[in-house]
Amino acid sequence: MGTKYEQFHERSISDPEGFWGEQASLIDWHKPYGKVLDYSRPPFARWFVGGETNLCHNAVDRHLQDRPDQNALIFISTETDVERVYSFRELHAEVNRCAAAMQSLGVCKGDRVLIYMPMIAEACFAILACARIGAIHSVVFGGFASHSLASRIDDAKPKLVISADAGSRVGKVVPYKPLLDEAIRLSKFPPQKVILVDRGLVPDMTRVAGRDLDWAELRAQHMNAQVPCVWLESNEPSYILYTSGTTGKPKGVQRDVGGHAVALAASMKHIYCGNPGETYFSTSDIGWVVGHSYIIYGPLIAGMATIMYEGTPVRPDGGILWKIVEQYKVAVMFSAPTAIRVLKKQDPAFLKKYDLSSLKYLFLAGEPLDQPTAQWISEGLGRPIIDNYWQTETGWPILSNPMGVEDIARKFGSPGFAMYGYNLKLLHESTGEEVGTDEKGVVAILPPLPPGCMSTVWGDDERFVSTYFETIPGKLAYSTFDWGIRDKDGYYFILGRTDDVINVAGHRLGTREIEEAISSHAAIAEVAVIGVADQLKGQVPVAFAVLKDPSLIASGEARMKLEGEVMKTVDQQLGAIGRPARVHFVTLLPKTRSGKVLRRSIQAICEGRDPGDLTTIEDQSALQQVRDAVGASRS
Ligand code: AMP
Repeated sequence: MGTKYEQFHERSISDPEGFWGEQASLIDWHKPYGKVLDYSRPPFARWFVGGETNLCHNAVDRHLQDRPDQNALIFISTETDVERVYSFRELHAEVNRCAAAMQSLGVCKGDRVLIYMPMIAEACFAILACARIGAIHSVVFGGFASHSLASRIDDAKPKLVISADAGSRVGKVVPYKPLLDEAIRLSKFPPQKVILVDRGLVPDMTRVAGRDLDWAELRAQHMNAQVPCVWLESNEPSYILYTSGTTGKPKGVQRDVGGHAVALAASMKHIYCGNPGETYFSTSDIGWVVGHSYIIYGPLIAGMATIMYEGTPVRPDGGILWKIVEQYKVAVMFSAPTAIRVLKKQDPAFLKKYDLSSLKYLFLAGEPLDQPTAQWISEGLGRPIIDNYWQTETGWPILSNPMGVEDIARKFGSPGFAMYGYNLKLLHESTGEEVGTDEKGVVAILPPLPPGCMSTVWGDDERFVSTYFETIPGKLAYSTFDWGIRDKDGYYFILGRTDDVINVAGHRLGTREIEEAISSHAAIAEVAVIGVADQLKGQVPVAFAVLKDPSLIASGEARMKLEGEVMKTVDQQLGAIGRPARVHFVTLLPKTRSGKVLRRSIQAICEGRDPGDLTTIEDQSALQQVRDAVGASRS
């Protein structure tokens, strides 16, 4: 590791108050904080105690003086052929209109607003409008279906939902409204009001009288609205974002206000090297944490223009991302390894077709970045490719290369070093002791977690502590649930999850959630879902299901029909994102004598590896069934 960065990191751990006190000056405070860190109730960390600020002020208002006419939001949809650029002044006006509309519906500080929207500019206005008035937003990824949406409604109990008629993917209209209606029908705590953006994608969108309101009409009523920012104490909640874990019930990751703003501002400086006036392009979606941190808040706080892109990397052709880079002189780009693997299949001439001289860095995150993909894009672009490892819970990178502090030589396959503020350790899973060089351990962070990380699980402090801080023996340490190793030069490598969470194209899914969806099909008695390595998506879910009545699949045709039905059940409940690549039917699942499903053995067989120690297996024939099912599907 470089000495300059080593000192920077060391200070952040030994003197967190001094370090973060300096970073705090990167944002505007309405009222100064009294104390940088209150860690009197471990593991809960309270940052910038007593300080008052507002995320929307920092992302929008404070730029009005120096850069009112500079690009702030660039909305590009290759799906609907719409492109619109908003200056900071225009963004401010749109956010005020939306904020006023929400206030007119009785939304106040602390109320939850659920945002279920495609990648359109209005989603950005809605998020910032919530921040402006102190409402807590809960953005739900548009690919989630009714059941997932209903469970998030019931947990967050939003007063208002903001949605749209539809999204569009690969030229196909993807309706949102019917899924929302169904979710509200299933919900125990339905919202009082729904605002709908009508993009004109669905003829005659149905509206529920008295509940559903039109975005355009509300906007017209508040054209000249000026809504003052509501100043919030640094530790009040700014948003909830649900993420998958080992249980079927997603956790609401709760983030604060001040620590969040400071952490993002610091990361834009020390990691992403984004400067005011430059353009940032993240290909993620607002439904994920990358969208929150690095489509909306981070770049705008840094005074950059941010691109919101509705489309895929290959439509109208495999050069579209690079065309956007040329057109808007993108300086910093952020994508996922899956997107690059998709591009690898395209004509390499696309990489040379456009003027990419503005581009300084390409950051990749969300899933392991394999060496061939990193090498390919690095050679193709001739720019630094920077892997960064983090999670919904942390909100900004745990491991990366601190480009703004020191450009340390990179090793393909490694996301780099512990970022400042993270007291990172690799701990032995059963002793809790630190492991040695090149030894596998659980990636853990000794608390307090730095600013910007989750403050708790929404409505469930106990779950926050027990889920994250009580899994490593003898130590209060935050577990990331990833395995890692550190080599002799100090580079970290991530080896995969320690739990049953899988990563499909950079999206995190709990196998438990998929199992619950499959189990709701009337024919299914029992099911195990595992993640299987996939060349393009990293991993895909594969299901092994036991039927209540095996005669249901007496013929090959019946088997295929039932497999299709099970997949459809997942589509309806979770969304296509959770759909298994295959559903294999077996008459029993491989289990230990104590009844635990041997997932790792099933996974090994699916990936053509040795299933490992099977001394505790209840019935050997179960594994043979898995082998037969996998073998039959390969041949
Ligand atoms: P999410 O919370 O959905 O962002 O998922 C976080 C998980 O994705 C991490 O715990 C890792 O398992 C995985 N992950 C994210 N970024 C990387 C990376 N750069 N390298 C390897 N795994 C990653």
